[in-house]
Amino acid sequence: MDVIVGGGVVGLSVAWRLAREGRPVTVVDPAPASGASHAAAGMLAPVSEVTYTEAPLLRLGVAALRRWPAFASALAEDAALPPAGPEEVGGLDLRAEGTLDVAFGADDMAALDELAAFMEKLDLPVERLTGRECRRLEPMLAPSVRGGLLAPGDAWVNPRRVTAALLAALERRGVNVVRARVSELVRTDGAVTGVRLAEPPAVPDEGRGSAPLAATGGRAGGEVLAAGRVVLAAGAWSGELAEVPVRPVKGQIMRLRSPQPLLTRCVRGTVHGSPVYLVPRGDGELVVGATQEELGYDTRVTAGGLYELLRDARELVPGVTELEVADVVAGLRPGTPDNLPVIGPGRTPGLTYATGHHRGGVLMAPLTAAILMGEESELAALCSPGRFQEIS
Ligand code: FAD
Repeated sequence: MDVIVGGGVVGLSVAWRLAREGRPVTVVDPAPASGASHAAAGMLAPVSEVTYTEAPLLRLGVAALRRWPAFASALAEDAALPPAGPEEVGGLDLRAEGTLDVAFGADDMAALDELAAFMEKLDLPVERLTGRECRRLEPMLAPSVRGGLLAPGDAWVNPRRVTAALLAALERRGVNVVRARVSELVRTDGAVTGVRLAEPPAVPDEGRGSAPLAATGGRAGGEVLAAGRVVLAAGAWSGELAEVPVRPVKGQIMRLRSPQPLLTRCVRGTVHGSPVYLVPRGDGELVVGATQEELGYDTRVTAGGLYELLRDARELVPGVTELEVADVVAGLRPGTPDNLPVIGPGRTPGLTYATGHHRGGVLMAPLTAAILMGEESELAALCSPGRFQEIS
């Protein structure tokens, strides 16, 4: 039996893949789909996310994006989602109209030129556009936009629909999702052989004698779940259970609502030195993200964070300030020292990692599951836990 610790997009994708292969699997998470995956914008954008120092990440991202259409179709079928509209796959709001990176000043334009040259060298499809061409594609862009770079292959998806579909698919396949926190990995003769469930938090009883048990899905705290293999997919919290260099990187993000979609594709730009992006959903929602803050496990949504997001988004698309605010949230990305995920077995027998996906966990969830099934040995080497001395 594989026990997956963490039911975010990564852990659930791995569990679903294992279940489809007929392997016995259990997921343990006190609140599945509530971590970074709940906050994520869902951009599947390896090309427009690229920076010059991140060539390995780009390779992973491009391979990950290729897996998404088949992953989404199979998931929609397995979760029995209602039929999708003409432009989306399987009710997950998977869209592939590309990302438009826009520039305002001479410096931004020069940076886009350099980026375009870099991408062309890598044979990545991009188109250089004038300001007028950008506005022809996206009429709501600010008149001050001077030029842009279109990455036509980039896509995006609604991560909340993805995790809901994964949970539904797991339920249909009879996979047990235990609503409990893992307090520690259980070790026998140096190998990980299971997980111990935490005592449920003290819930004011109010006559409901069974409340604490209900919080662990009917299991008693302290109980050990035996496992042939434990897959650690606890996102930013992975370092609490094993020696793995994953740290929380806070991101604040907001969801706005408009009766008519303001944009048809993802738009991003750099304003006052910080990157901002806008991601349109099929239902009129517009996601504006995201801050990047090194503040430990702080998940407060702050006035300053929201102010910066809106101020910068308005520079790109002035109409955003007219929209209704639907949701504001802060999530913790699982960051690693080299920005690459940690996927595969470590030095401890019985323990496998699927964590550290930082800014790209939604994009890389299907690829992560494939790597753990042994399908991508070259890419697996880039994510190998063994590259970090301290990993257990
Ligand atoms: P999480 O989703 O955080 O899930 C970890 C789970 O582990 C949680 O459910 C938690 O309850 C559980 N857990 C923790 N400790 C324990 C324990 N002790 N026992 C049991 N369970 C435990 N990525 C993209 O690809 N595209 C984007 O556009 C994008 N935008 C983002 C925007 C923001 C604002 C943020 C914050 C992130 C964004 N990301 C994006 C990154 C992406 O969200 C993450 O890389 C991804 O969600 C990581 O998934 P995960 O399953 O590893 O972690």
